[in-house]
Amino acid sequence: MTHTLHDRTETLRELLERQFQRHTDQLTELMVYSRQRDHGGHDPDTLRRMIEAARQGIADTAQALRRMAEGTYGNCEGCGGEIPTARLEILPSTPYCVPCQQRR
Ligand SMILES: [Zn+2]
Repeated sequence: MTHTLHDRTETLRELLERQFQRHTDQLTELMVYSRQRDHGGHDPDTLRRMIEAARQGIADTAQALRRMAEGTYGNCEGCGGEIPTARLEILPSTPYCVPCQQRR
C-alpha cells in the first residue's frame, strides 16, 4: 500500500523539524569549535566546510517547512510535478524530483 503525501505530511513535518534542530545544534557546536585555538581538533578548512554544510542544511530544511506552510510542499521546483512521497521520506527537504535533481 502506498501512502499519499497527505497521509505523510505530519510525519514529514516531524522529520523536518528534527532535521532542523539537528543542523542547528551542529552549527552551534561548530561555531564553538571555530572560536577555540585548536578548532576543536579540526582542520580549519574541514571545519569551514562542515559549517557551510550545516548552514545549507538549516536553509534547506527551513525552506521545506515554509513550503509546507504555504501548501506547495512536495511540488518539484524544477518541473512543477509531484515529488514521490517515497523520495520525500528519504530526503524530506529536497525541492526537486529525481530527474530534475539529476539535471542540476
Ligand atoms: Zn522535477
